[in-house]
This record gives sequence, structure tokens and C-alpha cells, in this order.
Amino acid sequence: MSAPVDLEEMRWHALSSSEIARVLDVDLTGLSHGEVDRQVARFGPNALPKASRRSPLLRFLAQFNNTLIYVLLAGALAAALLDHMIDASVIVAVVIVNAIIGYIQEGKAEQALEAIQQMIAPKASVIRDGARLTIPVAEIVPGDLVLIEAGDRVPADLRLLHARRLLIDEALLTGESVAAEKHEAVLPAETVLADRQNMAFSGTLVAAGQANGIAVATGAHTQIGRISSLIQSVEVMATPLLTQIDQFARRFTWFVLAGGLALFAFAVLARSYDWVDALIAVVALAVGIVPEGLPAVITITLAIGVRRMAARNAVIRKLPAVETLGATSVICSDKTGTLTRNEMTARRIISARCTMLASGSGYVPEGHIQVVGAGDQAEAMAASMPLIRCGLLCNDASLRKVGEEWRVEGDPMEGALCALAAKAGVDPELERSEWERIDEIPFDAAHRFMATLCRGPDGAMTLFIKGAPEAIFAMTSPGDSAYWENAIAQAGSEGERVLAFGAKAMAAGTHRIAFEDVMAGVELLGLVGFIDPPRLEAREAIAECRSAGIAVKMITGDHAATALAIARQLDLADDPQVMTGLDLEKLSDEELEQAVNRISVFARTSPEHKLRIVRALQAQGNIVAMTGDGVNDAPSLKQADVGVAMGIKGTEASKEAASMVLLDDNFASIVSAVREGRTVYDNIRKVISWEIPTNGGETLAVVLAILLGFALPMSATQILWVNLILAATLGLVLAFEPTEPGAMQRRPRERGAPLLSPFLLWRVVLVSVLFAAVTLGIFFYTLDQGRGLEVARTMVVNMFIVAEIFYLFNVRYLHMTSLTWRGTVGTPAVLIAITVLILGQALFTYAPFMNAIFHSRPLTFADLALLVVAGAALMLLLEVEKHVMRRLGWFEELND
Ligand code: ATP
Repeated sequence: MSAPVDLEEMRWHALSSSEIARVLDVDLTGLSHGEVDRQVARFGPNALPKASRRSPLLRFLAQFNNTLIYVLLAGALAAALLDHMIDASVIVAVVIVNAIIGYIQEGKAEQALEAIQQMIAPKASVIRDGARLTIPVAEIVPGDLVLIEAGDRVPADLRLLHARRLLIDEALLTGESVAAEKHEAVLPAETVLADRQNMAFSGTLVAAGQANGIAVATGAHTQIGRISSLIQSVEVMATPLLTQIDQFARRFTWFVLAGGLALFAFAVLARSYDWVDALIAVVALAVGIVPEGLPAVITITLAIGVRRMAARNAVIRKLPAVETLGATSVICSDKTGTLTRNEMTARRIISARCTMLASGSGYVPEGHIQVVGAGDQAEAMAASMPLIRCGLLCNDASLRKVGEEWRVEGDPMEGALCALAAKAGVDPELERSEWERIDEIPFDAAHRFMATLCRGPDGAMTLFIKGAPEAIFAMTSPGDSAYWENAIAQAGSEGERVLAFGAKAMAAGTHRIAFEDVMAGVELLGLVGFIDPPRLEAREAIAECRSAGIAVKMITGDHAATALAIARQLDLADDPQVMTGLDLEKLSDEELEQAVNRISVFARTSPEHKLRIVRALQAQGNIVAMTGDGVNDAPSLKQADVGVAMGIKGTEASKEAASMVLLDDNFASIVSAVREGRTVYDNIRKVISWEIPTNGGETLAVVLAILLGFALPMSATQILWVNLILAATLGLVLAFEPTEPGAMQRRPRERGAPLLSPFLLWRVVLVSVLFAAVTLGIFFYTLDQGRGLEVARTMVVNMFIVAEIFYLFNVRYLHMTSLTWRGTVGTPAVLIAITVLILGQALFTYAPFMNAIFHSRPLTFADLALLVVAGAALMLLLEVEKHVMRRLGWFEELND
């Protein structure tokens, strides 16, 4: 083992590659297994130390830092000073239970987010044991040979060995907004950081090009690690809705305080209540009416949504997306890999003379290539060989057998070309070793081709090129263009994706290729058609979108004919209309807005077109979800209401710009996320429509008593008890409600629709009044029977709880009747909460110590039966109301 190296002090930019190899004690062709283990032991993982979390105690105490809690504690203090020790302790119990609930929920939400962050931990490509591998960034060690390309975040500090058109955005490190050009030449030792062009620094973004380099510093030893030794990993829960509700709760608190003060004054001055009793009652009421638990319940509803989405392969990166997803009205999706499987098979080989078809499926390098029609097989094979060889040499992918399965490392289309070569009897490894790669122009979606410069076995230099047919035709002499156009149209109409191949002989000494070299004089070798079958799940998901009033648009870099054929196979629209990027460029923004709703397939588009399409859709009032994977997709992902990046084939740049990442790159996962998004929003509305009338009914009953001057139907401690037990049980369960049947048969909600829709507002008023009426009815009925105030109040408290339970079942289905078997059974959360609630009430009613604390009295079986009948009647009434309202059509949301 060599002496320890101080990595931070090394001037890597001034060392030649052999010196680097010596210092790091590795060779520069990639580490072996053993070397990796050795380096891990020496340098540890490639990760920055995490910021430590707030201590549990601090987080618990933070729960008390809230205006309402201060008011409550002041109330408790006042009660204690006035010798109302029971009231004081019940208030304190309310505060503590709330804090515990808040603490647990916050913890759960944070854990859920953290676990999800792990699912999209960044990956990097390295060469180890001679093969290209994709590994988590944290596993990179000094000495690793790392490959980077456009869209990657540089995973460690790299000394570049080979850079091709590499541009790196180093704003993070240097503040410079123009991307820096990089190369591999040795630099003078005194070169400052910003000018070290042969270095790529950890955390910076590759804007264009390709390179490989040796990792020379990892983790905290990197430049960025030295600047910021801490990174914040946990995002706080914040969404527009949550902020809105938080603000509402705060404002409402002040409103309640003012109302409470007025009520207190009225009770003491006009109704000559004892001021101590009046104060305690008003404080209890204030505790009851303020929805202090609401923000916490909504946080947990969002967190559950995030978790459910992750279980369906959609990882939320930015929380507001959870809300927006449910309102999505258009989904713009890439084709390749999202709507199709991205499992390419080269099927059709078209040379100047003939067409051949290849058998076999997947990447298995076995199958036959057969001439179509009456042509001579041997002749056709000979005519196709240059094309097949070009496909193999202008190619960065390789095939690997894992168990029984053949897998691609690299681009699937290039993998398919390797399999094709093998079917033609060419050994990919051997061929590539005979044709040494000297230089390349990497593929870029902007120019749609890729080129390599290779030295053949005889020493001659050849340039190989492959790309979109239009791009390649522009470089070749026209030839029989009708023949080729025909061939492309034929393949495209069958949903095949077509690539064109070309070659050019270069002068002997050439060792660099530039764009000028490919602009002219290229010989067209032919075309290959690939099949990439549509995903079955995507077809189903599209049908679901259509029933849910969500339009799906395909935006692809592929040819119009291919895209249209796939759109038809997927049943994207009744009669899908296609527009190409070229057509789109001719339209003004206004014209595009007019056309955009009508078109369902955009073909041969570039990232700038995507941006214009999103804007046009948004201008039409749509909420747009948009997928993207390339480095240039970042602007449209940011512009979209929900930017969706691909977890497998997406670049780091696109993932960072997106608000959601699909772990499986699958369109169906977006639709699952939309469904969960609708569920989250429904559940938030359910929580609100359960919670507010609950508080409202209680308040109305007590306020009426004070205003009209009859005995309070509940004592202050009893009001507090009701709040306490409800907050700890039923208040939580609506967050766990599953998706309502029919959630995907409704139209998306309008942009900016208020949370408290007219129907919910009406509900709040109606239910508050009904609750107050029923409880007061029970109260006076019991008093009438001469059973005394204590029994009457115990009846009222129990009536409240029973009514709440029945009302909960009514609220569980906002859009349909709850009187179904499914509606009656309830979720485990509902059943557990109800059990706890009933046990609590049994204690409240029958336990002697509770009778002493709360002045409650045991009830008879007939009393209980009466309460249940009254509760059931209330629920039936509300079910009838739901039905009547739907018939009357007063509230649009019921008629979806
Ligand atoms: P989508 O946008 O739906 O994912 P896409 O994969 O076809 O579709 P791009 O990756 O932008 O979109 O590719 C555009 C075109 O560039 C392709 O249709 C193909 O003709 C060509 N192309 C794609 N990959 C390569 C490659 N590795 N080498 C050469 N040409 C390529």
C-alpha cells in the first residue's frame, strides 16, 4: 500500500495521466473489484455529511409555538388561579394530546419524504473490471474511471482524460453563468480553479458533450464539499394549500378570540353569568371551534398521498405537485420508453438494392436475416453488411447476459444494432477491436445524429454516422429520394422507428472530426427500422385519462408517421392529428394556442417546441403535466405545472428540474399519480367538511344557550372532552381514505377552484344547524323528563359523539351515496378510531372517576338506543339531501 495521499492538496490539473496513475496507485482503465474495496476502506463513501436533524425535544417543543396554544395555556393558567383545577388540567391535556399528535405526524411526514429521496439517489457510469456499470454516486471512489455526458451532474471531482465537446455549467462553484469548455490537456500548476479546464468538479452540470475522467476527490474532499460541508436533506412540508390553511387557521383564531370576548361580555353583563364560569365556558368554546388540528391532518393527508404515489413508482420531488396533479387537465408525454417499452428490435434493413427482415425478439443475439421478395439472399446480405457494420461501430452500447436474459448497457436502439450485427454473423467485440475508435461526435437531440471516426484493420480512416433520416439525407447526395421516402413511409406506418446510416472515407492522418466533416460527401448506406412495442398499461392508462377528462398529447423527437402509428395503436384520440416541429415553427404563439387543443401528436420536435406547447396549453387554461428526459428539457419541465422526469433514462438535469420522477419511466405511473392526487384533494375536502361543521354545531348550541339565557347544554370541561377525544380519533381517519370509486370519471377540477366550494359551504351551514338542533332537542327532552341537568348534559355529549360517527360515514363519500356495503364497512383506520372513541365514551359515561371529573352520569340502555336512532336519522337525512341536491342540480360538483 502506498503512503496516504493528501487529495485536497494535489494539483491534479498540472499532472499528466501517468503521474495521476502513480499518485493514486491505480491504472487508468478502470478499477478492479479489489481496488474498489481498498479505496472504500481508505476514503469512505462519496457523500457529504448531512445536516443533523433538530433534536426530538426541540421538535416536540416547537409544537407549542402557536398563537392558539398560548391562548389555551393562558386559559389554563386563569382556570388554575381561579381554583378550577379540573378545567385547567383538561385544557392542559388537550394541549399535550394535540402536541403529541402534531409531533408524530410531522415525524411521519419527514420520514416518508426522506425515504422517498433515497429512491431517486443519483447514479453515475463508471468502468470497473473492464465493463461499463451504473452505480450510485455514493459508491464512487478516488481512482474510478467515470463517464459523463450531457445532463449529468458531475459525481466527484474528476481529472479529465478524454473530453469531447464538453461544456460544463460551473455556476454552483464559480458563479459564472456561461458554461465552461473543457479538454484534457495538462495545465500550469498555478491555474486558478475557474480556469482548470481539464477538471470537472463534483456537483456541476454537464451542459453538452461527453467525457471520461479519473475521480481524484470524493465526498467532503471535493471542491464543493470543502465550501459547504453541510447539506440540508429534508424539505419542510409546505404547499400552497397548506399555507392557505395555516393562514386561515391563524386568522380564524383571532376572529374567535374577538367573538369570545364579546360573548363573555354579553354573558356577564346581560345574562349575569358568574364571570368565572363564563370565562371558562368561552375559553372551552374557543378551544372547540378553532380547527387547531387541521394543518396537521392536512400535512398527514399530503404525506400519505406522497407515500401512495411512491408505491406506484411516482416519486414526488416538490410537494406542491401532490395538489396540482389532481387538477391536471393535459398530460404531454414523450413516446419512446414512456408510451412504448423502449425495448428495441431491429426488424427491417433497407439498403439501396433490397429490403431484409430480421427474426428474433428482444436483445437475444440470435435470429435470421432474410431477404424480402425474390432477391438473392447472398447478394442482399453482402449489400446490407456495410450498413450493419456502421450500426455496430457508430454505437456506444453493449449487450450483457445476466442469467438467461440479455440486457443492454447504454442506448436500447444501439443495443438492438449490436444484436443485429450478431445475427448477421459479426462478433461485436472482435469487430470493435479491429476498428479502433479515434474520435466521435456524440448524439444530441438537437442535431439528431451521431458520428464516429474509426481506423480500420487496413489503417484507412472511416467516418461512420447514424441518425434521423432527414439529418443524414441532408449530408448525402439525393440519389433515388422517392425510393427512400417510400421505404420510410412504409416502415413508419407500421410504427417502426427509422434510422439512417452513412459513411465517409477520411484522409489518412485525420484524428479529429468536426461538424464540417459530416456536412457533405457522406455516402448513404441505408436504413434500419426498429420495432418498439407500445406499453399495454399505457393504453389502459390513456383510456382512463380520457374518461377522466384529461387530454393526452404525445410529444416526440420521432418521425410523424411512426408517432402517428403508435398513437393509433394506443388509442390516443379518436382521430389523432399530427403536427411536426417544422409546422409548429411557422405558427405564431396565438395560432399555436388555437391549434394546440386539436393536435394530439407533435413529431420531430425539439426541446424549444416543447416549451412553446406547454405555454400554449397553459394559455388555454389547462393544468399541464409534461414529461422530459434530456438536459434541454429542463425549461419545459419547470414551466409545466407538473414536470415529470424519467427515473431510468432521464438525465440528472431533468430530474432536478422536475417535480416528480417516474421510477419505471412508465406513462401509467403518471396516471396513477393523478388518481392519487385527486384522492388527496378529496380527502382534504373530507377532513374539512367533517371538521368545520363539527365545531360549528357545538358552538351554535352553546352560543344559543348564552344568547337565549338557558342552561349550557355542555359544561366547559365537557366541551374540552369532546374536542380531545375527537381530535385523537375521528379527526385523523379521513386522511387514510382510499380513492372514491368514480374519481377518474370526473372532470379535473378547475384551476384555482376554492377548497370550500359552494356545496361544502352549504354543507357546513346545514350540518352545523342540524347538529345544534338534534343536541338541543335531546337536551330539552331529557330535562323535560325531570332527570336533571347532569344526565341531560351526558346525553348531549354522547349525542354529539354518535352524530359525529354517523356523519363521518356520510362524508366518506362526497360524490355518491354512503349507503353501500363498501361505505358501511370502513377502513381499518375508521374502525380502530371508532373503537377507541366508544371505549372513551364508555369511560366518560360509566366510570365513577370520570363521573366525578366531568359531572357525567351513567345512561340507560334506552337512552343509548335513542341516541343511535337520532344519529341514524341524521345520517339518513343527509343522504337524502345529497340525493336531492344531485337531482336538483344545484351544485355542479355533484353532477360530475
Ligand atoms: P421521444 O422524444 O418520444 O423520447 P425520441 O427518443 O425519438 O422520442 P430523441 O431522443 O430526441 O427522441 O431522438 C430524436 C431522433 O434522433 C430519433 O427519432 C432518431 O431518429 C435519432 N436518434 C435517437 N437516438 C439516436 C442515437 N443514439 N444515434 C443516432 N440517432 C439517434
